[in-house]
Amino acid sequence: VRWSADKGWHSAEITARAPFPVDPASAVLHYAQEIFEGMKAYRTADDKVVLFRPEQNARRFGASAERMAMPVLPEDIFMQAVEELVRIDSAWIPKGEGSLYLRPFMFAAETFLGVRPAREYVFCVIASPVGPYFKGGAKAVTLWVTETYTRAAQGGTGAAKCGGNYAASLIAQAEAVGHGCDQVVFLDAAEHRWVEELGGMNVFFVMNDGSLVTPPLTGTILPGITRDSLITLARDNGITVNERPYSFDEWKADAASGKLREAFACGTAAVVAGIGTVRHAGGEFKIGNGETGFLTEKLRNDLVGIQRGKASDKHAWVHPLAGV
Ligand code: PMP
Repeated sequence: VRWSADKGWHSAEITARAPFPVDPASAVLHYAQEIFEGMKAYRTADDKVVLFRPEQNARRFGASAERMAMPVLPEDIFMQAVEELVRIDSAWIPKGEGSLYLRPFMFAAETFLGVRPAREYVFCVIASPVGPYFKGGAKAVTLWVTETYTRAAQGGTGAAKCGGNYAASLIAQAEAVGHGCDQVVFLDAAEHRWVEELGGMNVFFVMNDGSLVTPPLTGTILPGITRDSLITLARDNGITVNERPYSFDEWKADAASGKLREAFACGTAAVVAGIGTVRHAGGEFKIGNGETGFLTEKLRNDLVGIQRGKASDKHAWVHPLAGV
């Protein structure tokens, strides 16, 4: 689907995947005006094809567009594009633990050199089958806390899902991998003190009174759909969830004293992953016994159960697709 200032949304089409021509003066190549989403289509045990809370992706896509001075794609066009593609590609959705990963994105296609919002855009969705995120079972991950790089500052684009955020954080993610870690943890830009999120996941802490702590949405972290779903599921289970600032110093102290029982990361790709070990420039520490914790496992099973049609879906999160 294309958008131009004079025609609005137009020229919708579905084609076999092929390269498309990009003019060397396309605005996106110079000013990185680009946003995207990440979501999955699942095949349930009784052979239905479903999406998980896709309207949340549509809404977040709109919020990202607004922040990046792009036209806001109507949510019904977003949904229609995603659904049509899933229908066509449904034979690729495996049974069992795999899924079809969907990548809606939009970029500035106008050809000009100049610093202003473009007047032409392309919205596109591509799909790719993916296997289970963790081969051989969910193993607790090891994190690297970067005290060199930050991801987002107040007033910046941290809450938007734009390519530029990831461009800026690739070096920190590479640094984490260089230290033998799976993902990087970012602290806030102002004080380098507060835990924000990981390279591609949100983070939760399980305290030994059974409550959860997760960093609040203050405009610098991505409002994860998995994060939101887990907060709801935890509260459904009578668990207190505190969305409050949590410092790296507290994290170290609470892990050492045993006040912190478990920690986990969450996102569309891995759903929920236990955090076993945390490394940083000054050393490393383990959380609990370094394995995925009990509550982490339970929340993961609850959420995966809903996504796979095995558990009751009382919040109507599962979006079945007719005609597949
Ligand atoms: N934070 C970042 C930086 C991410 O890239 C992602 C993945 N989209 C998340 C958090 C988790 O968001 P979601 O649960 O919507 O996948």
